[in-house]
Amino acid sequence: MSNHLSDRIKNMSTSATLAMAAKARELRSEGKDIIGLSLGEPDFNIPDFIKDAAKNAIDENYSSYTPVDGYAELKTAISNKFKRDNGLDYGLNQIVVSTGAKQSLFNVAMVVLNPGDEVILPAPYWVSYSDIVKLAEGIPVEVHTQIDTDFKMTPAQLEAAITPKTKMIWFSSPCNPSGSVYSKSELEGLAEVLKKHPNIYVVSDEIYEHINFAGGHVSIASIDGMYDKTITVNGVSKAFAMTGWRIGYIGAPEWIAKGCTKLQGQVTSGANAIAQRAVITALEAPVSKIQYMIDKFHERRDLVLGLLGEIEGFNLNVPEGAFYVFPDISAFFGKTLNGVTINNASDFSLYLLEHANVATVTGEAFGNPNCIRISYAASEKELKEAIARIKSVL
Ligand code: PMP
Ligand code: GLU
Repeated sequence: MSNHLSDRIKNMSTSATLAMAAKARELRSEGKDIIGLSLGEPDFNIPDFIKDAAKNAIDENYSSYTPVDGYAELKTAISNKFKRDNGLDYGLNQIVVSTGAKQSLFNVAMVVLNPGDEVILPAPYWVSYSDIVKLAEGIPVEVHTQIDTDFKMTPAQLEAAITPKTKMIWFSSPCNPSGSVYSKSELEGLAEVLKKHPNIYVVSDEIYEHINFAGGHVSIASIDGMYDKTITVNGVSKAFAMTGWRIGYIGAPEWIAKGCTKLQGQVTSGANAIAQRAVITALEAPVSKIQYMIDKFHERRDLVLGLLGEIEGFNLNVPEGAFYVFPDISAFFGKTLNGVTINNASDFSLYLLEHANVATVTGEAFGNPNCIRISYAASEKELKEAIARIKSVL
């Protein structure tokens, strides 16, 4: 019966990050000692002050359907956060709370794209962007960037990718999977190009905003001329270790926010009541409350870069944010290791899973077939052990 599936679903890829995490879970249940470095998920517990807010919300009976676009108190907290951290002024009518930033991205695609509209994706890009764009019948247009320029798209590359059909550009900074952070002047360079194209909109995915070791996160919407063209996407999964609580949000031009609310009202309704109440507390807290997690990620980044740097064939840059390294491992292509021929990054990632019991994600899922993504959102002990195993099977 599976051939009765809609073409939409048949043509869609399964999320490679979630698929690898599921595979690692399955192997673990068979008794294998798998170290999972595939999923981008903080390994910290949710801070207690946020948990307490959720417990209070239950006791205070926040149990009814929520407003489709989010509680006004949460939208006020988001508006204040945008002002405090990003210098952005979004009124409550410009903010929509969703069930994770993933839903925010899906909403925006459905609301802005018409069939055949092109969306520029600087590659490597986060795994779900291309399938979300395709679900909205848009056409992803990859712009390939290189490790020696820290995987960042230049204004000239952007200009060259624009066609009369270009409707949007989607990018994340700090970037999943490369960890790259665009500086203010780099964003200004891209903005110069975009200002010449009044019909092109930008999705700026800032979910890793706080996990930034270089300091000074800049939102492209804050750059002159960009506010009315930008949808700023954010959420609490990464900074507050709240992946399972499923809250994301956008700040956007009002017509886009209204469209997202209309869509959400027919699909999921408002996001979870308890989680929304807890997020008010999370966003009102000073960033210093979560600094310990950011510091730990920074230490682990240095640890991982040091250890991977000792493995011949790993070409690394220094990611300035998020919690991933994205080494170029193409030096192994064409080689045979323990009887397995490595032809591409997917073979390499599978080889690490089967021979080193370490789960990573192939760069192919992110639009770069020469790299693999390693998440260092894991304990130091696991990271050391995983990299020792990788070294020994190479
Ligand atoms: N954007 C990026 C770049 C991400 O890494 C993630 C992680 N899943 C998301 C969006 C979606 O986050 P959420 O958990 O809020 O849906
Ligand atoms: N963003 C994380 C990742 O890239 C979580 C998995 C997902 O939502 O796809 O691994």
